Amino acid sequence: MNWESKDLKRELSSILNPNQVFTDPMELSCYSYDTSFYSAINPHMPQAVVSPKSLQDVVELIKWAGQKQCPIIPRGAATGQAGGTLAISGGIVLDLSSWNEIESIEPQNKMVFCRPGVTYAKLNQALEPHGLYLPPDPSSGDACTIGGMAANNSSGPRSLKHGALSNYVLGLEVVLGTGEVLVTGGVKGKVLKNVSGLNLNSLFLGSEGILGIITGIWLAVAKKPRARAAVVMIFDKAETAQKASQEIESRGVVPAAMEFVYCAPEATRAAASFYEELYVPGAEIEIICEVDGNEESVTWEYTKLQEVAKEYAQASRGSNEPHGIHELWEINDNIEGFSASIREGAKRIAASEDVCVKLEKLPKILREIQLIAKQNGIGIVNFGHWAKGHIHSGLLAKVEDPGEVDAAFRTADEIHRLVLQEGGATTAEHGVGFVRAPYMLEEHENGLDWMVKIKEALDPFHILNPGKICPLETRKESD
Ligand SMILES: Cc1cc2nc3c(=O)[nH]c(=O)nc-3n(C[C@H](O)[C@H](O)[C@H](O)COP(=O)(O)OP(=O)(O)OC[C@H]3O[C@@H](n4cnc5c(N)ncnc54)[C@H](O)[C@@H]3O)c2cc1C
Repeated sequence: MNWESKDLKRELSSILNPNQVFTDPMELSCYSYDTSFYSAINPHMPQAVVSPKSLQDVVELIKWAGQKQCPIIPRGAATGQAGGTLAISGGIVLDLSSWNEIESIEPQNKMVFCRPGVTYAKLNQALEPHGLYLPPDPSSGDACTIGGMAANNSSGPRSLKHGALSNYVLGLEVVLGTGEVLVTGGVKGKVLKNVSGLNLNSLFLGSEGILGIITGIWLAVAKKPRARAAVVMIFDKAETAQKASQEIESRGVVPAAMEFVYCAPEATRAAASFYEELYVPGAEIEIICEVDGNEESVTWEYTKLQEVAKEYAQASRGSNEPHGIHELWEINDNIEGFSASIREGAKRIAASEDVCVKLEKLPKILREIQLIAKQNGIGIVNFGHWAKGHIHSGLLAKVEDPGEVDAAFRTADEIHRLVLQEGGATTAEHGVGFVRAPYMLEEHENGLDWMVKIKEALDPFHILNPGKICPLETRKESD
């Protein structure tokens, strides 16, 4: 490869400031993994890491990489769980985390412009004094970057009512694989509604760094809801939980969040330390439902939630004040934590953690997923976004045992294949990355060919995040 010069640091230092270039093996090893189990077992060292601070830095680097056909792997906070930031075929990791300026906040227009390394938490801190916030709320929000969120089109528990990041992106500044800079969403300025031209925002949202480097993001932001309320409900069976969630919506409630935990036996003991009445031996599902809005609407929705909880749940507890709501989310987390701790010596790992199925199939598929893990001799904790049919599975494996490592990968594969067979999606928010690329042909058939054609048009030198989503070799296999 003509980019693997002996003195890569010196070569890169002619493009960027030398203190933005890292080639020390100790430093590089920190960039050899993300939060996927795959990368914990198979770390991939890049040859260099660069830390750009301006559009010009990125443009110059991409032009150089195009000439040398050197892979460039964009990286935010590396909280991704799909191997998206791994240097699968070597190359240079583009660490965007320290390019983190919020360049403008326009409260009167409810919009902001920021650079890719701004974290979700930092953006919301800056918006707080204006009574504004960015609604899609990934659970990794303290660490993850807005660039990474855009590249993965991230969402969170409250996306049920408030939508994913794509609902808030007004425009993007992107450096393509040729070094050309593209501004989407109109170059004259940004507005809150715009259907002019093809929607190029959506092309890059969820593109995971394979089509371009996102260097700037214009976002719409929202007024913070004035009131919230939440109810935790414990159900004997998943089917009862399903009826209750349908009933909540039938009675006119529009939940902001409806999260679940598939409980390990006795898991509601974790709730009993808060409120004894929440201990329901043998309960299968715990759900937390949150509503938000103004005081009047929340009071009405809270009453409806409590009615449904009383009629359908074996036990429930609600609150409409901040401390109480926080406690209910803690109860939800503790039930999940208890369910994840039942296998002594096992570690919780991310391997098949993001599938989505039709709502009507949720109870059946949850049980089948539990069974797959059991048959492979490992544990599992399932939780996620109930009202979307979106399941996060944490596999519980003894990772120092090679047999269990194999069993974990087998379990992950069987879960993905089950979900595809049932007409579901292999990922609903965490992305395809490297680990789910093998399922793309089955999931998209000729759609994958079109993804490859789009990639080739925007990244003609094949330098942007190779091996992710639609590896070019996948197309050859399908021909
Ligand atoms: C505990 C935990 C909880 C999580 N909860 C959620 C959740 O609730 N919802 C959710 O959606 N996700 C969740 N995730 C997954 C992940 O945190 C999100 O997808 C997050 O938005 C990724 O941001 P990041 O900055 O860490 O991106 P990274 O992991 O660094 O990158 C993710 C992908 O985007 C690409 N990329 C990064 N920055 C850019 C850029 N500027 N331009 C082009 N490509 C880029 C990378 O190459 C990679 O393919 C969770 C992860 C963990 C570990």
